[in-house]
Amino acid sequence: MTFAIAMLIVADSDETVRAELDAQEKCFLLQVMEGIGDLLPEIDIGFFVGVHCCMFLTPSAVCGPPGTLRRICSKVHYLHTKAFKMMEWDVEEAAELREVSIALQQAAVSMVESLELLVQEALWYVDEECDILKDFLLADARTFIARPRLQHVLRDMWHPDYEREDIWDKVLNQMWLFVSTFCGLMVVMIPTLLYPDLERLWYRSVLQKDLDIRHIEDLKGQDVKVAGTVERPAATSDAKKQAGSEVDAGRACPHSVANFWEAVVKSLEIHLAVDFDRQVFSGECKLVVEKLQSGVRKVLLDVLDLTIHSITDAHGNLVQWEVQTPEGSRAKFGKALVVSLPQEDTSCQLCVRYETTEKSTAIQWLTREQTAGKRYPLCFTQSCAICGRSFLPCQDTPSVKATFSIHVTVPVPLVAVASGEPLGEPKEAQGLRTFAYAQKVPVMSYLIAVVVANFESRVIGRKSRCYAEPAVVEAAQQEFTDIVDVFLDTAQEVVGGADYEWGSYNVAILPSSFAYGGMENPNCTFMSASLLPGDRSLTPTLAHEIVHSWIGNLVTNAYWKDFWLNEGFTRYIERRILGKIHGAAYRGLLLMVGYNDLVKTVDMLNKQGSSGLTRLEPDIGDIDPDDAFSRIPYEKGSLFLFYLEQLVGGEESMTKYLRSYIETFRGRSIQTSEMKAHFLEFFKEVQKIEEVDWEYWLHGEGLPSFDLTAHVDRTLLEQSRSVADSWLAETPQGLEMMSMRAQQVMLVLDHLINALADGKRLSHQKLAAMDGQSYFSKTRNVEIAFRWCLLGCRSEWPGCLEATEHFLGSHGRGVYVKPLYVALKAFDGARAKAVFRRNRKFYMSLISKQDVDAKKVSLFTGQVSKQATQKMSAKQKKHLEDERRMSQRKALTRLWLDFGRAILLPRQKKYLAIVTNLAFLVALVYMEPTDFYISCWECQDFFGVAPFSRAILQAIALRYPFGHPQYWAKALAQVESFKFRFWISDSSCESSSS
Ligand SMILES: [Zn+2]
Repeated sequence: MTFAIAMLIVADSDETVRAELDAQEKCFLLQVMEGIGDLLPEIDIGFFVGVHCCMFLTPSAVCGPPGTLRRICSKVHYLHTKAFKMMEWDVEEAAELREVSIALQQAAVSMVESLELLVQEALWYVDEECDILKDFLLADARTFIARPRLQHVLRDMWHPDYEREDIWDKVLNQMWLFVSTFCGLMVVMIPTLLYPDLERLWYRSVLQKDLDIRHIEDLKGQDVKVAGTVERPAATSDAKKQAGSEVDAGRACPHSVANFWEAVVKSLEIHLAVDFDRQVFSGECKLVVEKLQSGVRKVLLDVLDLTIHSITDAHGNLVQWEVQTPEGSRAKFGKALVVSLPQEDTSCQLCVRYETTEKSTAIQWLTREQTAGKRYPLCFTQSCAICGRSFLPCQDTPSVKATFSIHVTVPVPLVAVASGEPLGEPKEAQGLRTFAYAQKVPVMSYLIAVVVANFESRVIGRKSRCYAEPAVVEAAQQEFTDIVDVFLDTAQEVVGGADYEWGSYNVAILPSSFAYGGMENPNCTFMSASLLPGDRSLTPTLAHEIVHSWIGNLVTNAYWKDFWLNEGFTRYIERRILGKIHGAAYRGLLLMVGYNDLVKTVDMLNKQGSSGLTRLEPDIGDIDPDDAFSRIPYEKGSLFLFYLEQLVGGEESMTKYLRSYIETFRGRSIQTSEMKAHFLEFFKEVQKIEEVDWEYWLHGEGLPSFDLTAHVDRTLLEQSRSVADSWLAETPQGLEMMSMRAQQVMLVLDHLINALADGKRLSHQKLAAMDGQSYFSKTRNVEIAFRWCLLGCRSEWPGCLEATEHFLGSHGRGVYVKPLYVALKAFDGARAKAVFRRNRKFYMSLISKQDVDAKKVSLFTGQVSKQATQKMSAKQKKHLEDERRMSQRKALTRLWLDFGRAILLPRQKKYLAIVTNLAFLVALVYMEPTDFYISCWECQDFFGVAPFSRAILQAIALRYPFGHPQYWAKALAQVESFKFRFWISDSSCESSSS
């Protein structure tokens, strides 16, 4: 079939070739064309679309002899009809696709243009990066199925020395390579780029129809073929309803498939055993589901990379279930586990037996070498924002709150600590211990957390212990003892005495690879070992996590767009606490440090073309929240509350308001609009609040025009500024920066970093002198070290490289790692890549995937604002443009690679080669070699089937000899050993040639 199409395209696309074909061959091709319809059952819809595109993009189809286009159109129409029949689609969908295909026809010309653009882009990249590849492939693509290449191929094919049979072999070989790539390119790229709807159909038809991932097993793991086996849903409006598309308008969360307004999970009972060898948790999760509407037959749970073994009801009977790919952008975030509910009961229990997989993004596995003690492995979960679904089946949206208990079985002597109160002493048997915890306050799935490690614990306060590895536990105890009580008490004062609902407040110290500073898991804040500098200078993070006991954990953002309700409020209250303890000047200092962070973040997001993400309530429905989050919700949010504080009469009024806010919304998940309504109601007597431009603050982009400096105590601030200014002006001697507060030093460094952005420069001698006086390279304070490295990299000072590499190898928190890599890459790209490769395994997947995804967000969130562009220099503009191109490339590549991976399945062998070729080509064109290289290894299957892979590997190996030689050798050997086999079935060959 493909061969036939290949021939068709080749023959049709080049006049010289056509002229050279003899009558017999022409006749053959005609037959092939007529035969396409008969071969249709062999084609699935995706391929059919590809054929369709090929035809229209075939030059002679667009500008060939009279009648060509018409003839092909009628053929396509015929193909449509058959395809619809074959797919058993309903009329509505058939019409939908027909519309799409008509649009495709109309857009034939613009498709050619798109392709031209793509090719130009490819060449732009190739020109810069890799001449070998250019020669190899892309020069050919310039004029679509390019003539020089084609002629070369054809000259080979029709060489008079070949015997007829050899010719066919040769033809098959060459043409397959050639055409499959372009078919693949068009199958996926053009329809998806031009018609987002088609992507949906495509996913549905290919992924849903042909990937038979549903089966039901009995408790012994045997397949059960009973009457209850789930039927594949017909593509009817009923199926649409299941996937949530019709009820979306109401309360659905864009990042979750949960139908929580119909059936909501009220509690979970989780029993898991940890297996460090296989790196999985396995066991069961019992969910109590309550129906909120009559007639509800199904509950939808979020799952991702989980292996579901079985689902039973309270009586142990098997329940019908299936895993569906959600519609629209939700497909990016996971799958829907659709479970049937009994008709009569309003509340029922489901027991899901399952295990996690090594792909589960919520779970981080550390080898013993990666721990402080280096004796035992360690693992922990981090489910915020939407990774909970890869740890357990749940309604993974902050709109749903449930109580839970978790029982974790671990090998002795390891300890499991989870986000609840302990349920008695651990039970020990056969070298295993089971720890149990219960959370009686209903919480969101992202707060269900566990860490398994060789932990000891120490008392640090009235109701607090810290858990940490033996090597760290003393340091942690010293850092937090008593201060935890001071913070808890002061926090309660600032929120107007609202009750602390959780019982105990503990801290677990995670290795410094933890991607966050802290995570507010209830009863057990997880905190990075990076935050133990020994001088308590970083305890503000502890204050922050404590505040989450009220804000976030009790009053919660309903959707991730409202994240500032969690983090902005928390940051605001955290600074109020620290101001109460250390004085107004200190609060002023913290506010300014935060403001500087905000300035930097806005700048960074603008440069990335993601200015939409600088909004307080951004539109992030189709972006992974983790990609959207930055310091904006924290700093812009708290700045907004500080601004409101000025209007309503100061701290005391805000304290009364906070109490009312917490009491009103305690235990609920709310949206920004509800906060606004409550605020306006609470302060309705205060005239000044009419000044508030809510639209500007909530939905405006960039920095708000609010002069913070006019409202804060500036004593400590001025001190920092004058130190910074003196460093900019001269090389001062004996300026005692180390005697300043850590936050002041941070501010000095911030001033200097900002000065660089304004075009000022610090000489390398000056930086060396600064380090000589203040020993920044050796500081244990992670905030100072981070700024120091950033300053060094931005000044392109070689003296900072060692400290920077050390920093990147010992800290994994996103807010440090991401900007530092950007700066290091700009300074020394090769080194940045090398450092990243070396530390990749150290980072949590959240960070390590950033390499590929780094600028993904910009693709989806619009352009850089015009204003910002005008102010930029030509160099900056070029840089920005390059970054934008690169980010688009990466995002597209990701899409395609994911896609390729998704259809790498046995039943899809036919399309395998197409898609792998596609993936390779695209990866080649769009990815940076490092990313490409990594992705290849993530989906090694590609090597086995992609004819281009060897050449590509060689090309890259030659151009980028950074990879470990053994790696390349292995890769090449693997590719060599592969015997390329045509998958053209015998039958289709016969029918073609008969
Ligand atoms: Zn927080």
